[in-house]
Amino acid sequence: MANDSHGQCLCGAVQITVSHPPHEVNACHCGMCRRWTGVALVTLDVPEANIRIEGLDTVRRYTSSDWAERAFCGTCGSSLWYRLTAPGAPDDYYLAAGLMDDPSDLTLANEIYIDHRPPAFAFAGPAKQITEAAFLAMLPAPAQEE
Ligand SMILES: [Zn+2]
Ligand SMILES: [Zn+2]
Repeated sequence: MANDSHGQCLCGAVQITVSHPPHEVNACHCGMCRRWTGVALVTLDVPEANIRIEGLDTVRRYTSSDWAERAFCGTCGSSLWYRLTAPGAPDDYYLAAGLMDDPSDLTLANEIYIDHRPPAFAFAGPAKQITEAAFLAMLPAPAQEE
């Protein structure tokens, strides 16, 4: 459909179709996202109902904290998405924006954990910049206990 966006992992085993794709992306500069991606995790926030995934048998999941998991391609290792797993958490996919075939119309809305961003990893602005403390203060109570 005309309103769908397509993406895939490096080897193509995982194919992703997003309907009503957002045009804004968000970046996380936390230490886990930095290690997982090599730079920062830049994501499209996609409700579960708007995403279709082929190749799920190739997808591997890493439980990176008590409340979240990170999915990657078991063949090529591409970072795929971050999802919250805590009970009651939104069922959104935080889909790695770099998977998309055409990311050219995406704009950066928010950078979180901005106080952890290495100086060399600056993105084009403007984006709302949020520190770790400010971001954690926005979360529901259970996550703040960690
Ligand atoms: Zn792959
Ligand atoms: Zn992060």
